[in-house]
Amino acid sequence: MDVRMLTIGAFAKASRLSPKALRLYDELNLLRPARVDPDTGYRYYALGQLERARLVAWLRRLGMPLARIREVCALDPSAAAGEIRAYWAGVEAETALRRDLAGFLIEQLASGARPIRKDTTMLELRYFAHSDRGLVRAANQDTAYAGGRLLAVADGFGPAGAPASGAAVEALRFLDTGELPAGDVLNLLQDAVRGATDAVRDATDGTDENGTTLTALLWTGSRLALVHVGDSRAYLLRDGGLFRITHDHTMVQSLIDEGRLTPEEATSHPQRALLLKCLGTTAPDLRLHDAALGDRYLLCSDGLSSVVPEARVRDLLSTTDSPDETVLALVAEANAAGGPDNVSCVVADVVEATA
Ligand code: MG
Repeated sequence: MDVRMLTIGAFAKASRLSPKALRLYDELNLLRPARVDPDTGYRYYALGQLERARLVAWLRRLGMPLARIREVCALDPSAAAGEIRAYWAGVEAETALRRDLAGFLIEQLASGARPIRKDTTMLELRYFAHSDRGLVRAANQDTAYAGGRLLAVADGFGPAGAPASGAAVEALRFLDTGELPAGDVLNLLQDAVRGATDAVRDATDGTDENGTTLTALLWTGSRLALVHVGDSRAYLLRDGGLFRITHDHTMVQSLIDEGRLTPEEATSHPQRALLLKCLGTTAPDLRLHDAALGDRYLLCSDGLSSVVPEARVRDLLSTTDSPDETVLALVAEANAAGGPDNVSCVVADVVEATA
């Protein structure tokens, strides 16, 4: 026998894979032994196979499924590196979604257990919404809405984009009227999103060609529950700082997350408008925010965020007074930058209740 051949036991030790795992990988065509003794059935491995075996072991430790490991092993090193990067970005996105949900549940349960302070200032929202066609598009396919409890922006696409965004927001309007239905906010939002998804399907032909983003905030009296899918955005201006509280579900954002694109490069990427998710294709992101007196929230469609830099948005949010003045200034700024897309803005201030 070739002296560089190792028995399965020796190879297992050297590669940090168990003999059982090696037999499985053989069956799955992931790592075939260099030689199988025809009489005894013993497997022998070549020293040169160690590198691949170790790669398989490391990828298993990453949690990568076997089928995907097989694909990675068939690639040259730089393509394999890219594939691992993409896999990990997917894991992080999934983890982020679960982290948000965990945070939402923790916050919701903890706030239910918190004693009610008698000296708590009653808070309410002061709000304004406006949607503008912009200077280039033939029609406005955005929908913006603001009420005492519900704030929403939806950006429709496809031939039935306008009915799609309209139906999504209309389906949430019940949250803004009368008493909030019994039950916790998470279940309420989940039901509302399901209703909105059905409404969009009914308002369009139900194909992938038509759809809408949805970014909405629901006021509960002390907190704001966020539901978000797509590339419309929500921002919070607090103590002079502007914080984006949504994550774009776009191809360029996933390239940024994977480290393949810088945020600066993304602003001029030819496919920057390509959506990865829209209402109905995925579970929306959910978050719960404790509101503070003086907070200012902005919801906007990409018609604002793709042409007006965040620093300028922060300036306008900081230097204008009432929500209506602010919204009209933001829309005017987008149009001054060429108004290439429909632009929708909702601004809501957390203020002391007047009643
Ligand atoms: Mg748009």
